[in-house]
Amino acid sequence: MDQDKLLDLFRRSGALLEGHFRLSSGLHSPGYLQCALVLQHPDQATALGAAVAERARALRPSVVLSPALGGIVIGHEVARALGVRALFAERADGVLTLRRGFTLGDAERVLVVEDVVTTGGSTRETMQVARAAGATVVGAGAIVDRSGGTAQLDVPLHALLAIALPAYEPDRCPLCAQGFAIVKPGSRPQPVRDGNVE
Ligand SMILES: [Zn+2]
Repeated sequence: MDQDKLLDLFRRSGALLEGHFRLSSGLHSPGYLQCALVLQHPDQATALGAAVAERARALRPSVVLSPALGGIVIGHEVARALGVRALFAERADGVLTLRRGFTLGDAERVLVVEDVVTTGGSTRETMQVARAAGATVVGAGAIVDRSGGTAQLDVPLHALLAIALPAYEPDRCPLCAQGFAIVKPGSRPQPVRDGNVE
């Protein structure tokens, strides 16, 4: 699955939005990716999972671990393609943790899988969950790396699509400076050139 085909898939699914967005991190960006809109089609989820698995197979992972919620569907599909378990970590009192009886042994080779890597923060946090359980993190996989290569991980990151979507601190956002109305993803995004600042 090459980058052009993937970008086309995202556009057709309405999953790649261009405008002026407030990300969950609080940063502003001209682009937003909603992978759930691609993954809502199970055949597409399976194909994307197989493609991530193909890139990560040489790492010989024995289990996939994903952060909830965004990583669960793609993590499950990557694990299906690799023939390994699919676990997810979720927040309890603000701390990412393994619940529901999920366990990781110290002989496990963990592949951390996410939908989108933005800064690498949640990937690193998920890696820490695996390491705290005594397992070895052999790599990370994602559908999209939108960090422009700036996500600092100490394991290989295999992403199907690398796109550099800038993210700005609100007080340094050029889109705010140009008066583009901002939208929160989930609402209907329409870049508006009416000169109003949020
Ligand atoms: Zn802005």
